[in-house]
Amino acid sequence: MQTKIFTEENIEEAGEIIRNGGLVAFPTETVYGLGASAFNPDAASKIYEAKGRPSDNPLIVHISDKALIGKLALEITSRAKKLIDSFMPGPFTIILKKSDNIPDAVTAGLDTVGIRLPSNETAVRFIAAAGVPIAAPSANISGKPSPTRVDHVIQDMSGKIDGIIDGGECSVGVESTIIDASGERPVLLRPGGITLEMLREIVPETMPDEHIFKSVSADERPLCPGMKYKHYAPNAEVIVVEGEKDAVQAKIRALLKENRGRITGVLTMYGSAYDEAVILSAGDSDRSYAKKLFAALREFDALGVELVFAEFCEKDGYGAAVKNRLYKSAGNNVIHV
Ligand code: AMP
Ligand code: MG
Repeated sequence: MQTKIFTEENIEEAGEIIRNGGLVAFPTETVYGLGASAFNPDAASKIYEAKGRPSDNPLIVHISDKALIGKLALEITSRAKKLIDSFMPGPFTIILKKSDNIPDAVTAGLDTVGIRLPSNETAVRFIAAAGVPIAAPSANISGKPSPTRVDHVIQDMSGKIDGIIDGGECSVGVESTIIDASGERPVLLRPGGITLEMLREIVPETMPDEHIFKSVSADERPLCPGMKYKHYAPNAEVIVVEGEKDAVQAKIRALLKENRGRITGVLTMYGSAYDEAVILSAGDSDRSYAKKLFAALREFDALGVELVFAEFCEKDGYGAAVKNRLYKSAGNNVIHV
């Protein structure tokens, strides 16, 4: 299949592909999404095939106008309404009881649906051009780091989908905050650009799900099915070294010595220098770490790095989103110093 690259200029044509049952990857403020019509079960099924995504992992439905929420959801509690009013559009997905308009192929058989209105203008124009809500997970091969630049999408999806819209670099860099508001008390299922603190300012009762920072065992059924799968993992082995600057640097120096002979890399947030390792910078704030993490993991792979040490220390509200992705990319291999 020939994959066509679209820009702002021919976005209408990209929308038409969606309307006709095709697949188009598109930029959002979080990461690039791989879209299909949310009203077309066959099209939604093609997403799973292109990504190699497990069939029990539901897709988020993207809309261009809040008014559509009433058509996709059965019930909107007063707390859900407050959250919608406060955080949409933005890097925020709300889970609500689904209406019959959404096929099972989109929600993997669940009776709830995740709904998101992006703030990225290209995304909103594209969804409006499609004229239907767009079901989309991240546009990466399942298990790999999510794409934050168009070249990442081309690398994973070229030849497998109809089109890719080039919208430059994603500003947030990690996937949306997911909040389950289908019950009375909202539950944070995945941290992201909208932090727990921000959510609690609007709905103080919001609780984080226990699985956010730990792995899910095979016999558990987490609320967010995506949680139980290997995620964000580059080819390289990743080890997180977490703590204050001096201790982290000393530990990584020792680890580099122990691993002489392997091609090593360090993702630094302290601006550290190490001999004989490929160094990439995550910047010095959690916000920049979120923006750079996935691109850095892909870059280490491109450079043939076999073992990555990631410096980490949670600094602000964004830190939870970084920590969740980083721990998963490392398969929870974390050294606290
Ligand atoms: P991705 O966009 O690739 O990050 O994948 C979407 C994430 O949203 C996955 O982790 C899904 O498990 C989660 N998700 C989507 N719809 C629902 C839903 N109805 N209930 C719970 N989690 C959902
Ligand atoms: Mg994903």
